[in-house]
Order: sequence, then C-alpha cells, then structure tokens
Amino acid sequence: MKIESKKIARYADKYCITKGGKFRLKDIDPGDTGKFKSVDFAKDLLADGIKLMSHLQQKLYAQNRWSLLLIFQAMDAAGKDGTIKHVMSGINPQGCQVTSFKSPSTLEMNHDFLWRSNVALPQRGQIGIFNRSYYEETLVVRVHKEMLKAERLPEALVTKHVWEERFEDINAYEKYLARNGVKVVKFFLHLSKAEQKKRFLARLDEPSKNWKFSESDVKERGYWSEYQDAYEETIQNTASHNAPWYVVPADNKWFTHLVVAAAIIEALDSLDLQFPKVTPEQEKALAEARKLLKS
Ligand code: ATP
Ligand code: MG
Repeated sequence: MKIESKKIARYADKYCITKGGKFRLKDIDPGDTGKFKSVDFAKDLLADGIKLMSHLQQKLYAQNRWSLLLIFQAMDAAGKDGTIKHVMSGINPQGCQVTSFKSPSTLEMNHDFLWRSNVALPQRGQIGIFNRSYYEETLVVRVHKEMLKAERLPEALVTKHVWEERFEDINAYEKYLARNGVKVVKFFLHLSKAEQKKRFLARLDEPSKNWKFSESDVKERGYWSEYQDAYEETIQNTASHNAPWYVVPADNKWFTHLVVAAAIIEALDSLDLQFPKVTPEQEKALAEARKLLKS
C-alpha cells in the first residue's frame, strides 16, 4: 500500500470545524472545488482515497477496539445517498452499517430523542453511517416547532432554553461516545439554493430520476433560510475536537466525495490503528499449525 496517498487527508482540513463560536455558513462556498478545476484533476486522488480508506478499515476491524460513526446531514438533493455509496465502495460491507433516520415512529416518539440512536451505534471495529441523525432534533424540529409538541415532553420541561439544552445534551452524548472509543465525525453537505433547484428540475425532467422526486422536498425548500439558520446555529454549538463538523461544499459531487473521503482518512489515521500483535503463544500455535498442514 502506497501510504503516500495519505496526502489526500489534508484536503478536508479547510472545511473542518472544531470550535463553533465564530463559524458562519457564508464563509464556505458550496461551489468551492479547492485547487481542482474539474474532476479530471482529482480522479487519481479519489481512487487513492478509496484504497486508503479500505486499508485503514481493515486495521480498524482487525484491532477491534475503536469504532467510527459518520453522520450525514444535508438539505434534500445535496447528495447524501451518492456520497454514502461512494464511501461504501471502498469499504468491506461486513464492517459497516448504514442507518437512515426517518420521521420517528410511535415507539420512537415514546422515548427520549437519543434512544433510537443508541441501538444503531457501531460495534467496536465497525464503521456506522447515520443517514440523518439526532441532529434532526435541532434542525427539522426547530424549523417546524409543532414537531416538538408531538414529542409529548412534560410541559414544564419545554422552556425557551429547549434548543440550548438539546445542544448541551448532544455535546455530552458525543463526549460520552468519545470516551467509549467511538470516533464521531459529522458532515453537513453544503448545497446552494440554485444547485438544489437544478437537481430538483432534473428529477422532474429525467424519467430515470423521477422516483427521487418528492413533493414534500419542494415544500421544505420554502423554509430554506430557516434551515440555513438552524444548521449554522447547530454547527456553532456542537462542533468540538471530540466530534468535528465538516462543512463540505456540495455543488460538485466529485468534490464532496473527495472531501468526505479525506475527512474519513484523517479520522481513521488519528486513531493510530495497528494490526493486533501476535503473542509468543500464538506464534507457537502458528508454527504447530504449519507443521500439521505440511505433514
Ligand atoms: P431521500 O429523500 O434522499 O430518500 P431523506 O433522508 O430525505 O432521503 P426521506 O424519507 O425523504 O429521506 O425523509 C426523511 C424525513 O424524516 C426528513 O424530512 C427528516 O427531516 C425527517 N426526520 C428525520 N429524523 C427526524 C426527527 N427526529 N424528527 C422529525 N423528523 C425527522
Ligand atoms: Mg427526502
């Protein structure tokens, strides 16, 4: 394995938020493609990234100590599904699980908001992908406040501090995960409103894309600025060293894939993963097995 391709990891740095205080969404251009003029200049790097991810995942799996949780949040048509597909193309499915979080079921609504995430967390040695997550609780639920009512929290507990409290709870949860060997990395695929329009129109115009179209997506587009504010505030309040946010330019899909792969490589690399060392006893057993097979 040519570890030289590790240089890919640095392409994500510019988009990594670990301290949210001064973060402004407007500082990141959805159309940014870094130093690359087009996908042709990034092709080799993309392919190397996939190979490197695959190599690191093997170590994660063999070492069986850490796990990696990748959270994807975005407006509709930002390319969550395509990005997950691309990332997965380099990963052994045995060591990876994707969970898509939809509107909570009645059973889920009958519990606290983190309940359904717990059972979906990756086991040691595994990569877990959350396609949407508990972050919906400070995004869609914040934009559509009637959803909070539907959660049936005791009234005395729902004050004007409810969002602050959710940020606090999420930060505590992510600290807890970090202390338990779950490395959390969060992605916001940052799409422009104009590019979303283009992609929605393509879903209407191209028969092979019709199935992707949903009327409710267009309705949600009407709340664009409310969502942008909710994302900005969520990132400001929940970016940390334990669990950084990557705000990934999403108007060019190939660039999104590159930055996401780079961030994953960076995260896995930071764990200093090692294949388990063979103990003297195991070495003896290996020698015995070799003798037996040859006899
Ligand atoms: P795609 O449209 O690409 O298939 P998607 O992630 O948009 O993927 P949908 O089934 O269209 O999937 O939408 C899921 C919906 O569930 C989203 O509108 C999301 O906001 C909503 N949702 C997810 N979690 C929650 C939550 N905790 N509370 C309320 N709504 C939620
Ligand atoms: Mg949708």
